[in-house]
Amino acid sequence: MTIKRTLILALAFILVVLTVVCQKSQTEPEAEAAAQEFKWQVDKFADLRILRYQVPEFDELPLAQKELVYYLSEAAVCGRDIMFDQNYKHNLTIRRTLDAIVEGYKGDRTDPLWEQFMVYTKRVWFANGIHHHYSTDKFIPEFSADYFATLVKESEGVKFPLAEGQTLDDLIVFLKPVMFDPAVDAKKISQDSTKDLIVHSAVNFYEGVTQKEVEEYYKSIQDEDDLTPIWYGLNSRVVKKNGKVVEEVASVNGLYGPAIQKIVYWLEKAAGVAENDQQRQVIEKLIEYYETGDLEKFDEYNILWVNDTESMVDFINGFIEVYQDPMGMKASWESVVNFKDLIATKRTDTISANAQWFEDNSPVDPRFKKEEVKGVTAKVITAAMLGGDCYPSTPIGINLPNANWIRKNHGSKSVTIENITYAYNQSSMDSGFGKEFSYSEEELERAKKYGAHAGNIHTDLHEVLGHGSGQLLPGVTGEALKNYHSPIEESRADLFALYYIMDDKMVELGLLPDLDAAKADYDATIKNGLMTQLRRIQPGKTIEQAHMRGRALVAYWVYEKGKPENVISMEIKDGKKYVVINDYVKLRKLFGELLKEIQRITSEGDYEAARDLVETYGVQIDQELHKEMLDRYSKLNLAPYGGFMNPVYTPVMDDGKIVDVKILYPDDYVKQMLRYGKDYSFLN
Ligand code: ZN
Repeated sequence: MTIKRTLILALAFILVVLTVVCQKSQTEPEAEAAAQEFKWQVDKFADLRILRYQVPEFDELPLAQKELVYYLSEAAVCGRDIMFDQNYKHNLTIRRTLDAIVEGYKGDRTDPLWEQFMVYTKRVWFANGIHHHYSTDKFIPEFSADYFATLVKESEGVKFPLAEGQTLDDLIVFLKPVMFDPAVDAKKISQDSTKDLIVHSAVNFYEGVTQKEVEEYYKSIQDEDDLTPIWYGLNSRVVKKNGKVVEEVASVNGLYGPAIQKIVYWLEKAAGVAENDQQRQVIEKLIEYYETGDLEKFDEYNILWVNDTESMVDFINGFIEVYQDPMGMKASWESVVNFKDLIATKRTDTISANAQWFEDNSPVDPRFKKEEVKGVTAKVITAAMLGGDCYPSTPIGINLPNANWIRKNHGSKSVTIENITYAYNQSSMDSGFGKEFSYSEEELERAKKYGAHAGNIHTDLHEVLGHGSGQLLPGVTGEALKNYHSPIEESRADLFALYYIMDDKMVELGLLPDLDAAKADYDATIKNGLMTQLRRIQPGKTIEQAHMRGRALVAYWVYEKGKPENVISMEIKDGKKYVVINDYVKLRKLFGELLKEIQRITSEGDYEAARDLVETYGVQIDQELHKEMLDRYSKLNLAPYGGFMNPVYTPVMDDGKIVDVKILYPDDYVKQMLRYGKDYSFLN
């Protein structure tokens, strides 16, 4: 089963900070000014940090689209319980108990133990359960079971999730091993295929069945000759009833029924304000699928959805990704509501429309240029609401549907979520990272002012033009460079971007305000390639990952070649090393020279030259610099995983009709979680 979606999740943080590629965002001068006052990071605990994203352009949407976003957003939050329940069968009971304590505890809230309790509770909210969202290991409270019992007993005016006939003491006894014993349901998803994957996984897609029984069950119902098969088991739970293996299927009257009814309620409202017929059909088909649980309808829905490319607003809502199932069969529930990022799309359209000019004017040998070149247009969206498996830990790109035959016969949609990466980027500016590794105040200011925007243009040039530029000589294939193909190809696309971002054409086309923005991109690129990306590498290791090799290759090559003219220098201040660019114009010339050479290597399939470049500049690490980098980075004490709070949409009513929808950005993570727990909790 292939993983199709760019679920970079937690790693997004690390990636975004240090790569220029993959940073995407919209930044108008006004938005930039506002961005400086907006608090991006609102909470930090354990290895997690909570950020916020902005939804630029929401206020500019026509009323009907605002309404549509609002309804779909409600549908997105209504499935929250499903994800908790899927992750582990006792998660809902635990979450409701924790919520009740946070609301009702009358004892001392200045006690350090209370702080530990809150950290645990926030972690459970973040992970949609008691297992770490990334490692899938169960995390154990730092407070004792006795303290927990005190908290339960000293909470007043709140309702605990007591089963029929259960007392508070029973609940405490029941939860003790579940929460505090490391051996009980220790792992959400077992990867150890020498043991029964289902029995050893705490995830709640199966109950009372073995891996063998599940495999036999699905084998017995699958039609191997079907060329357009449904995704068997996608929306169900497998259990044993009266000694027989059966599926419980999710639908309005089946598994997760009460939550799905609410989702359908909001989807019906959304269908009523659909932008066009195609979109209305998409929503109605999804409702049909939720009503029946019929996976053929889910396929029909996916085909309609892939073909809906005209609508401004789009969304995902359903059982989509199968990462949480050790068998890779069952999908966890998720939702993302979004709309087209018109500013970013206009940007990539402009670049794409001028593709031929860029090709004709590049420093590459004319023999290796394409006579006719076409830029691709990047599809960029703005997330408006996140739910289920996408909240708070969020993907930065979406590539769906997952069914191979639908992708092949009907295509797929692939988008990057720019306001999410923008938020990651902005928050990293505040995190101390920028300050620690900037040599001068001027450099830091330039990064703050232009960094995100210049990073976007760099990414656009890399993706829209870079990879598609140039041509191979007749008889040369893409495989000629073998294991060096990827780093060479990435550096080629990057160099195309680096060469052009400092060109007057950027200002002429209105893509950059001035060439100081390009300087910010050069600062970031060189600093990352020479130094800061090393923090992702273990002490004593070399660079292995292709993108990182490509970046090191570019940075070290221009550093070495520019030495006689001191184009780039390593300066020491207060005992720390800094990268300083002394001559941006000469640096651009060097990028052009290397682009020329790398295009030659690619076009001619010159394996030896590719190997020499990569091995000389892209693999080895200066051990001393590496150590310093790791030390300085660890002192910044940054939380490795990030997630997001959602905005709040409030309809403005007049005479029983919605006349506007207002967007607000709350900054209290605890309040949002408690509100969701109260207003969107529908399962038992
Ligand atoms: Zn690339």
